[in-house]
Amino acid sequence: MTQKTNAHDLSHLTVLVSGASIAGPALALNLARLGARVTVVEKAAELRGGGFAVDFRGHVHRSVLTAMGIWDEIHARQTHMGRQAVVDADGTPRVDLPAEMMSGDVEIFRGDLAQIMYERTKDSVEYVFGDSITSLTDTSQGMDVTFERGAPRRFDLVVGADGLHSNTRRLAFGDESRYLRFFDHYVAGFDIPNHLGLDRTGRVYSEPGRAVAIGNYDGDPERAGALLVFRSEQLTYDRRNVTAQKQILMDRFAGMGWEAPTVLKALEQADDLYFDAIAQIHVDRLTKGRVALLGDAGYGATMGGMGTGVAIVGAYVLAGELALAGGDFGTAFAEYETRIRDFAKGCQKISGNAGPFFAPPTERRIRSRDRMYRVLSSRPLARFFKKLTEKAATDIKLRDYPA
Ligand SMILES: Cc1cc2nc3c(=O)[nH]c(=O)nc-3n(C[C@H](O)[C@H](O)[C@H](O)COP(=O)(O)OP(=O)(O)OC[C@H]3O[C@@H](n4cnc5c(N)ncnc54)[C@H](O)[C@@H]3O)c2cc1C
Repeated sequence: MTQKTNAHDLSHLTVLVSGASIAGPALALNLARLGARVTVVEKAAELRGGGFAVDFRGHVHRSVLTAMGIWDEIHARQTHMGRQAVVDADGTPRVDLPAEMMSGDVEIFRGDLAQIMYERTKDSVEYVFGDSITSLTDTSQGMDVTFERGAPRRFDLVVGADGLHSNTRRLAFGDESRYLRFFDHYVAGFDIPNHLGLDRTGRVYSEPGRAVAIGNYDGDPERAGALLVFRSEQLTYDRRNVTAQKQILMDRFAGMGWEAPTVLKALEQADDLYFDAIAQIHVDRLTKGRVALLGDAGYGATMGGMGTGVAIVGAYVLAGELALAGGDFGTAFAEYETRIRDFAKGCQKISGNAGPFFAPPTERRIRSRDRMYRVLSSRPLARFFKKLTEKAATDIKLRDYPA
């Protein structure tokens, strides 16, 4: 009697994923359900919590998250963030920004989303924390991988889901400088005491070339998130040196009005500083041999480009194509490349506005931004604005992938 085999079963496939934030666990979740044996290596010592609130928009995000079985939990743990306001130096609101404009259909903390996917996969996926890939050697049998700490291993495929400054991309595709386009701004974020007593609302204050935003996303009476954005030439600094990054921010925001002095004071104590360039990743190809790039590693945009949604859709498509091709990675990678590239580029285009939105270069531009958003935030136009961002978020036709 012949045994009936499932053509989409991936149990013969071993996959190493680098990065356990959003793209990595999303791919692990999709692949593990198809039977693949997945290992996720993450440089941090444990799953990283916190981070910014990230949002989902439109039917494509929703149907992918539903197919992954996590829509309801995301919904249950959403922030319920309300309106935000652009304010004057004395805190008087100048423009009201509706929630659907800033926070999409559903918004959740990046750390909570990572946690949801990690919990769903931790029993079927091998997670290795506190380690990193040091070399990749493509052999005819598989990919030989060495690690900073662990013993060398062989995998059928390696996926770089390790962010804007991807280690996998550097090892397999070459130096970051070939792929990273700087967008004239830096962004920083960290938690501060909720000294304004905000309740699921936020404030943005801009001076030419710099902005401070404070938001309370989850109703926590004690805690708020601060976001600093400044316009700059490209800086050289050590990405591991937090003290140096704090100094850059102290210098750039010195003398700024509104709540900036209080925020800078809190920065001195912050132990969760995120600091990076607003930049985009543009690679010629998303795959090379047995290696694929996913999420920010392949098409990141720092902020304002729905990067989380793109990473989730990318993970779903990559896993789905591998299943349809029965694990034939040549076929699957080619399909992934074709299906994701334009979609990701469309979302990247929107993100180009993030820096100038927060920190217009002149007082005149600040005024014209305010005028424009005053018009856009009126009810009918807010709906139109939402449709505009949704257009990029839904500009992909998903195939019917095996469950
Ligand atoms: C200020 C700000 C606001 C944002 N707002 C939104 C939003 O509203 N909506 C939205 O959709 N997106 C938003 N984003 C973007 C979103 O955070 C990213 O697009 C999304 O997290 C992409 O996830 P990723 O898993 O590809 O990369 P990342 O989240 O960057 O994760 C990469 C992971 O790889 C790990 N790693 C790094 N190097 C190594 C290594 N050598 N070995 C192993 N692991 C490694 C890192 O520790 C990390 O866990 C925002 C981003 C910023 C900065």
